[in-house]
Amino acid sequence: MIETGRIWFNGELKEHDDAKVHVLSHVLHYGSGCFEGIRLYKLKNGKSAVFRLKEHIDRLYDSCKIYKMEVPYTKDEFIKGILDTIKTNKLEAGYIRPLIFRGYNQLGVNPTCNPVEAIIAAWKWGAYLGEEGLKNGIKVCVSSWRRPAPNTLPALAKASGNYLSSQLIKMEALDMGFEEGLALDYLGNISEGSGENIFLVKNGELLTPPMASSSLAGITRDVVVKIAKDLGLVVKYETLPREFLYLADEIFLTGTAAEITPVSSVDNIKVGCGSRGEMTKKIQEEFFKIVEGENEKYREWLTIVE
Ligand code: PMP
Repeated sequence: MIETGRIWFNGELKEHDDAKVHVLSHVLHYGSGCFEGIRLYKLKNGKSAVFRLKEHIDRLYDSCKIYKMEVPYTKDEFIKGILDTIKTNKLEAGYIRPLIFRGYNQLGVNPTCNPVEAIIAAWKWGAYLGEEGLKNGIKVCVSSWRRPAPNTLPALAKASGNYLSSQLIKMEALDMGFEEGLALDYLGNISEGSGENIFLVKNGELLTPPMASSSLAGITRDVVVKIAKDLGLVVKYETLPREFLYLADEIFLTGTAAEITPVSSVDNIKVGCGSRGEMTKKIQEEFFKIVEGENEKYREWLTIVE
């Protein structure tokens, strides 16, 4: 069970056991919530900093906008709530989970008659796909579950209900002995992992699916694109057929939780040499320099917790 300490709940810091909602809350029945996953890093200089806080808050409010959820807090108030949650729990490094959801009033499908409520939790959380996975790569499979078509559920909204698709992908992969599942989009092209974007390395170029691939606009993906450009690498947003997964020289997954996790095999077919590739390693190293405050150019991505 995750140990979170105090939780910010509708503007107040509550004790862990007091942060409760009613069982008739709309979100529990219909998935009507939007959330974020944000990381807090311990910097090399000993301070702690939230990584790309502004971008996460912007995406959270954008997700809510798509679902017509009017957030009863300004972005600045919300950011203060996040920093207060970290400070009250004396957290130095970990994961931050803001959630904005439809609460309890009516139980019809129309969500708009319910109050919009918010929580922020934060806790210690290490490598999502394992320390070993970060170093040597993970075994993944192509899921039999596709991502929803663009005119069904909006993939750019990080909405709670979208994660029913992710759960099917993840459970199937684990049941079959893999560590993660990759979903194709409705046309059968590569979309993303259950909670990560994907990059392929082919002939020295970095390839990632375009926005319209039923995948989330990942903030870590954006970091990787900037790192790649700094390293003088070619990055292309391209529609990628499934078989590219078997032909790529390197593959890695990106996400706030997953960070940059190499893929060692897809459907039991080795990727490249079957362990972390050279380009993946280089990008990982640059990534960790940035999040630990060792790259001046990206200092503004770090919100120091004073
Ligand atoms: N796709 C999905 C479905 C995700 O849940 C995540 C994690 N938020 C990502 C991609 C990666 O996004 P980010 O790098 O912003 O964490």
